[in-house]
Amino acid sequence: MLNEKDENILWHTHHVSKDERAKIKGQKPCILWFTGLSGSGKSTIANMVESKLHNLNKHTYLLDGDNIRLGLNQGLSFSDADRVENIRRIGEVSKLFVDAGMIVLTAFISPFEEDRNRIREMMQEGEFIEVYVDTPLEVCEERDPKGLYKKARKGEIAEFTGVSSPYEKPQRTEIHIQTENISVASASEKVLEYLEKKGYLRC
Ligand code: ADP
Repeated sequence: MLNEKDENILWHTHHVSKDERAKIKGQKPCILWFTGLSGSGKSTIANMVESKLHNLNKHTYLLDGDNIRLGLNQGLSFSDADRVENIRRIGEVSKLFVDAGMIVLTAFISPFEEDRNRIREMMQEGEFIEVYVDTPLEVCEERDPKGLYKKARKGEIAEFTGVSSPYEKPQRTEIHIQTENISVASASEKVLEYLEKKGYLRC
């Protein structure tokens, strides 16, 4: 929301453009937006995708849920309002990275369709690639890599997605991964194939 002061702040166009920054990196910048329940495999798959891209000499950056909450978004809670703000800030940071010519990977539950779509709309056509890491709640709960489901079921964590807070399944996802059926390696390969096929790995 603009206030009186903000009206005097204008986006400054610099001499070096996004396209020029991307060109020397030999890639088309974009956001690979991983969404899914806690424990669905977002971080694990995003990590492997980033390694594969790095091995291809692509310039990447992985924004990971917990890491961002420890820094930039320190102090935000898991209330609906703070979740919206959490995702909004991540969207803005990702947009800056895309402007820098990078392939950005984000691993956040991002449970609300409206928030994800808001980021899609902030970006240019083709720059937002939604990767739905679709793992049934029972499987996530079984994996429980950080012991969070156990705590949430005991009532020790309020507003936990899938348990006491909703997750809205993506309606218009570019890449759909069902981790029950494929390995981490195959899931990462699927993302790489999409990027290759759509021309993101060259400029
Ligand atoms: P999230 O980032 O979505 O919270 P994590 O990646 O931290 O999830 O944890 C997912 C856990 O599930 C990891 O321990 C991972 O090794 C395990 N896992 C088992 N099978 C798969 C799979 N096919 N894809 C992704 N993760 C898997």
